[in-house]
Amino acid sequence: MGAKIISGKELSASLRAQIAEETAKLPVRPGLGVILVGDNPASVSYVTAKEKACRETGMYSREIRLPAETTKEELLGIIRELNGDEAIHGILVQLPLPKHIPEKEVIEAISPDKDVDGFTAINVGRMLIGEKCFLPCTPHGILKLIEFAGMDLSGKHAVVIGRSNIVGKPVAVLLARKETNATVTLCHTGTNDLKSYTRQADVVVVAAGRPDTLTGDMIKEGAVVIDVGVNRIPDETRPSGFRLVGDADFESCAQKASAITPVPGGVGPMTITMLLWNTLESAKRHAAR
Ligand code: NAD
Repeated sequence: MGAKIISGKELSASLRAQIAEETAKLPVRPGLGVILVGDNPASVSYVTAKEKACRETGMYSREIRLPAETTKEELLGIIRELNGDEAIHGILVQLPLPKHIPEKEVIEAISPDKDVDGFTAINVGRMLIGEKCFLPCTPHGILKLIEFAGMDLSGKHAVVIGRSNIVGKPVAVLLARKETNATVTLCHTGTNDLKSYTRQADVVVVAAGRPDTLTGDMIKEGAVVIDVGVNRIPDETRPSGFRLVGDADFESCAQKASAITPVPGGVGPMTITMLLWNTLESAKRHAAR
């Protein structure tokens, strides 16, 4: 294996220490309202990790756990209450929501000033036109990881695999911004001959949600691989019965890449860290008002 490992764990630890330091100095305590509807096990574990990270950095976390049968009106009422709560600077509604609650309507009910996930249409629009906004956490974390790896993307070719609203599309937008200055190709399930694009890339960001979407033969020598995928695959040697793998085949990609993010311990920890970052940012804006 020749590739350097880009550790999201390490970068997260240093950013969280910085966030804790700034939090302690602020005249207001940053507060995050976390809403979970139902008891989807993956969502419970994400929400628990977010609340824990909040407390560890000295932030206030208001945890609202609601039964799966909560109505849309009840949920919207709670969001309105948090929108007006002075102690809350960020609101997070854990997705997915139960099927009877329309996600779009719920997200749009969050005040754009407290939308620390960066999911509202206003924040997405601001990001697109380069205005001050809350950047979506996973894409923002990816930019930080690339910077941490010491890679200057100006004039480089970035290939993004995946066009979701939460990862692929915003990553492509952020990489193409003047500050980053990469030339971006966005690939998806409609792309013919994916390999012909990835082989030209200086950096490949893979967010497809499928193991082995990117393999070593698909990248050029010295490319950087950012693996966003989180997939559970059966593994009888583990007490849990499964292990986590990304969307890139780590072994073969690491043979050719100059740097690669591991799964777990790469992009994953950065998502929560950038959520804390946005919550701190929101509290700073509040304090400056
Ligand atoms: P999604 O299912 O919404 O989107 C996947 C995208 O990949 C689609 O746009 C599809 O067109 C594309 N795609 C799928 N297979 C492809 C293929 N073979 N070739 C080309 N394109 C292909 O998923 P998402 O929400 O963007 O998440 C992607 C992955 O990232 C998932 O594994 C998810 O669990 C993970 N994820 C991780 C974090 C984190 O914090 N680490 C955050 C969000 C998502």
